[in-house]
Amino acid sequence: MTTPATGPVLVLLDHAADGVLRLPALELLTAARSLGTVQGVWVAGADGPAPDARALELLGTHGVETVHRLDVGDADVRLTPVVAQGLTALLERTGASVLLLTSSFENKEVAARVGVATGAGVVVDASALEVAGDRLVAAKTVFAGTWNTRCAVRTPLAVIALKAGSVQAEPAAEPTTVTVVSQTVAVDSGARRVTVAEHTERAASTRPDLGAAQVVVVGGRGTNGDFAPLEELADLLGGAVGATRVATDEGWIGHDAQIGQTGVTVAPQLYIGAGVSGAVHHRGGMQSAGTIVAINNDPEAPIFEIADFGIVGDLFAVLPQATAELRRLKG
Ligand SMILES: Cc1cc2nc3c(=O)[nH]c(=O)nc-3n(C[C@H](O)[C@H](O)[C@H](O)COP(=O)(O)OP(=O)(O)OC[C@H]3O[C@@H](n4cnc5c(N)ncnc54)[C@H](O)[C@@H]3O)c2cc1C
Repeated sequence: MTTPATGPVLVLLDHAADGVLRLPALELLTAARSLGTVQGVWVAGADGPAPDARALELLGTHGVETVHRLDVGDADVRLTPVVAQGLTALLERTGASVLLLTSSFENKEVAARVGVATGAGVVVDASALEVAGDRLVAAKTVFAGTWNTRCAVRTPLAVIALKAGSVQAEPAAEPTTVTVVSQTVAVDSGARRVTVAEHTERAASTRPDLGAAQVVVVGGRGTNGDFAPLEELADLLGGAVGATRVATDEGWIGHDAQIGQTGVTVAPQLYIGAGVSGAVHHRGGMQSAGTIVAINNDPEAPIFEIADFGIVGDLFAVLPQATAELRRLKG
């Protein structure tokens, strides 16, 4: 792969509240290395964590040369206009030609704001990146997953939000020594028009984030509200539990578990759908999964059209058998 990047590639580093880097950040770094010199952007509030020795070692292992620690004073980094202004200033200061973010709800908004501020070409929900000639090309599905597209960015600056799980995170061939640079950015009043009145942390779960999980077990109307067999299988595989809109609308599971056009987009290595028909609005959020397994008692269910493995049967009979067999194989 040749590189189109004339300036560095900036990567927004997703991390947990305790400063632990999230897997999608390492995936972005892996993608970024094939484009040019990799620089990370660390965003945390005034009271938030700085990149500690463990994070810096991991970043070095993944080929990061510089980490820009964004200091926006007393502005609230939970607000997307604040993060967007910070990144816009950094892009100008560093002369970067690519900004990579994980394709979350917040980051997609940040990407759009940066695009407006800089005139950059923006692609969100990308599932792959490549260089064609002197252009960066991002792959993405559109129209609820009915079309696969390749979008070439024609502006000098490209802003790409890549779906978690699109790239296998791999360490760099040669580790780097990371330099941390403090970058102070004055955020204007326009980005402060909103204040966060209340903030409730989601109850801690031992399961991975739905958007970043490598295994996702998904339930639909066919569960009739009983997600227990799905949860058991997900826990055995170290996966997350997702749902169709029918299941979330019924209140069987939280709306943050909804996968699809109006929910989360996932690209896990393994998607297991149980009692899911495979409606086009749902497929738009999951069909770039590596392997799709479908369990449905209707052999005509549309999900079988995109499934790599299909089981025609009652999910309440199939899932416990699968879980028991996997448990036996795991010893
Ligand atoms: C604008 C718009 C946006 C939308 N956005 C989304 C979205 O983001 N995500 C989303 O998921 N949907 C979305 N929808 C809804 C979508 O169109 C479908 O209605 C929904 O995905 C269907 O959910 P389902 O597969 O759970 O239910 P159904 O389509 O009713 O399918 C249930 C399936 O379960 C099977 N089944 C029943 N019992 C069993 C059993 N015991 N064992 C095995 N199989 C069984 C049935 O055969 C059936 O195939 C949207 C709709 C609109 C109009």
